[in-house]
Parts: sequence; structure tokens; C-alpha cells
Amino acid sequence: MRFSTRLIHDGEPIDPATGAVSPPIYLASTFRQKAPNVHQGYVYSRSGNPTRSNLERTLASLESGKVGLAFSSGLGALTTLLSSFRTGSRVVSIDDLYGGTWRLFEHYRRNFGLRVDYVDLTDPARLARALKEKTALIYLETPTNPLLRIVDLKATVRAAHAQGAEVAVDNTFATPVLQRPIEAGVDIVLHSTTKYLGGHSDVVGGALILRTAKSGRRFAWLQNAVGAVPSPFDCFLVLRGLRTLGVRMRAHGESAKAVAEVVHGHRKVRAVHYPGLADHPQHALARRQMDGYGGIVSVDVRGGEKGALRFLKGLRIFTLAESLGAVESLVDHPASMTHASVPRAEREAHGVTDGLVRLSCGIEDPSDLAEDVRIALRRV
Ligand SMILES: *Cc1c(COP(=O)(O)O)cnc(C)c1O
Repeated sequence: MRFSTRLIHDGEPIDPATGAVSPPIYLASTFRQKAPNVHQGYVYSRSGNPTRSNLERTLASLESGKVGLAFSSGLGALTTLLSSFRTGSRVVSIDDLYGGTWRLFEHYRRNFGLRVDYVDLTDPARLARALKEKTALIYLETPTNPLLRIVDLKATVRAAHAQGAEVAVDNTFATPVLQRPIEAGVDIVLHSTTKYLGGHSDVVGGALILRTAKSGRRFAWLQNAVGAVPSPFDCFLVLRGLRTLGVRMRAHGESAKAVAEVVHGHRKVRAVHYPGLADHPQHALARRQMDGYGGIVSVDVRGGEKGALRFLKGLRIFTLAESLGAVESLVDHPASMTHASVPRAEREAHGVTDGLVRLSCGIEDPSDLAEDVRIALRRV
């Protein structure tokens, strides 16, 4: 079956007990045992829940992994991943990251003896240099948040595996519709299902998808031991979001393209970050590696913070809010919002300037979004 069909039919959408076409939500926190340890597969809902299992099987299948695990948030998934390391283990992370991911890495680095180095992983020479020291994990986003840089997945996997390091990819921006890292050999995929997978700004959730059954068992143990699990209702909402992910990603892509055309080369704009533009530094790689360029366009507006604030004020359809990937268009000012936890010097060194605005293009009519941005730029 092709991918859009699998989005609708993967997992267990039809309830085997009743034929209900929408899956039931099992709210039970615990399950009867006929005798101690004699049960029907479920014991206690932190350890496993039928609605969660349905979501987890669906995620594993869509990401081409062996095991999917659902969490209470993207950072809940990351906490579980980081708690798998011993003191002194070394993680090499990309240097452009979601602010909350950076904050959690720093927490583990300062307090738990995890070694973390931030490296520009778009540069193979820097990756090779970083791998000279013993490394447990390479961690990256592609496209990155908020600068939409692209990392070569196959090349990274080849270099990392040759040195005995695993590779984890945060696939939140691309979604499995546009990119399936495990098919490139990646070991662990992470999601904030809060974003495109949920898609309607009504659920906070996360996921890990593991390439092998062995690491699936290891992380399933940690999922239960750490306990950052989602509610059955939240699992249902993510499952419902997944059914329309195919059409939504197509529409997000069209909106982003229309917005990128307005801002590209505009005299009020210093720089545009969008992998669909021919002058994006990794455009050719994005074209090869992804089945589309996604719905996010980051724009460095002239006039620094003042310029950015004027632009934000001029927008009518884009709502100023953290988060991204929902049906409605959202706009974020990374320096003061999603990435405020990253110190200014560090931020600016790699391009997250005070003038940067991140546009999450929704599935409204692309012409309306383009016009909204065009009018707001007049204010700058
Ligand atoms: C939002 C986000 C996260 C964190 O996920 P939460 O669900 O908010 O905990 C991680 N990575 C990326 C790329 C994100 O956008």
C-alpha cells in the first residue's frame, strides 16, 4: 500500500470486538488478572494501554521502525532517551536545535555528567572530527528548528556507525510523510506529536521509534520505568490527526511555497530560510532526501527586534503563539519565545538573530497567507 493509504489504514482503526470504524478509547488504568500474572496482555496503563498500543503500532509502521513508543510530550520522550545513558557518556548534538531540547541537554550535562558537544552537523568534516572521540549518540534535527538547515542522513549514519555511535533524529518538522530516517539507517526517531502529527493544537505528546526490536525492548522498559506516558485520550487525538497527515502536509507545503515567494528577495528581508528555495545552501540535498519541503519558513526581518515586532503586529491571519504544525498558521519570535532559554551569544553565533521570525504556514488558502505576509512587511 502507498503511504497516504497506510496513514488511514495502519494500526487498528477498526475495533475487532465491535466493528466500530473509529477505535475505542480505553480509559482503564488497570486490568483484571484471572490469577496473579494471568492476564490478556494488559496489566496497568503506565506499562501498556490498548489505545496507546494502537498509536504505537501505527507510528512504528509509518516510520518503518520495529517498535513505537508514545510519551506525554516530545521532551518526555527526550528525557527517557537521555536517561538511557550512563554518567560520562558523550552525545554529539547539532548546534541548531529546539530551545527546550538544548535546555534539557544542558541540564543533563551540568547535573548528571552527560558530555554534550554541539557541532554543525551539516559539515561532514566537522562530524568526522567530532567522531574521533568516543561517542554514544549523534543527535540531530533535519530540517532544524528554527533555521531549516538540512543534514545528510545517509552520510551521517555511515560515519557514526563506523565509529560505533548510534544516530537519533528529531523528525518533527518533516514528519514521516516527507522523510523516514530509519529507512536511511537511523537508529532512533523522536517526535513532538504536539506538532504536525496531532496537527490541531489540541494535544501535547511525543514519541520514540526504534529501528531494532532489541533497542525497542530497552526503551519500552525505560518508558515504563520513567513513566512519562500519554493519556489514552491524547493517544486517540494523535491517531485521529495521523489519518489526515498526508493531505495536511501537501497543503502546508503549498502554503509555505506561496509565503516563501513573497519574502524571497523582498527589500525588508535580510534572509529567508526555507529548503524549497533554489538558493538554500542544502536545497539539492533536501530535494534528494525529502518528499517535499515542509510548512515552515523562517524570515530574518530588517531592523532587528524592532523590525520583527512591527512585522508581527501587522499580521492578521498568522497567530502569535509558540508551537507549529497545526491547521492554523502560527508565528513565533524565537529569540524571545521558543529559544529564549539559549543565551544570546550562542543564539546569534549560529543565526538566531533578534530579527528572526518563524512562520508555521497552516492549511488556509495559500493566497491569503501570502497576502497577509506581504501587507505585514509594509510595516517594517
Ligand atoms: C516542540 C518541539 C519539541 C518538544 O516537544 P514538546 O511536545 O513541546 O515537549 C522537540 N523538538 C522539536 C523540533 C519541536 O518543535
